[in-house]
Amino acid sequence: MKYYVNHETKNGGTHVVHSEECQFLPNEDKRTALGDYAKCETAMKHAKDEYATVNGCATCCPDCHD
Ligand SMILES: [Zn+2]
Repeated sequence: MKYYVNHETKNGGTHVVHSEECQFLPNEDKRTALGDYAKCETAMKHAKDEYATVNGCATCCPDCHD
């Protein structure tokens, strides 16, 4: 599964990580590709290299959402 992090923030500063199949995946110009991983946990680690505050999408990455 390919994962992406949203450029735009939600709830005052959180960048949300989505999988490629998510209905809430942002448009191409509003997301950064994180890579192709088996688990969202790995994508989250890479997202944290980009942004200090990240969270998994509740819809596509419930295991990484809190
Ligand atoms: Zn999502």
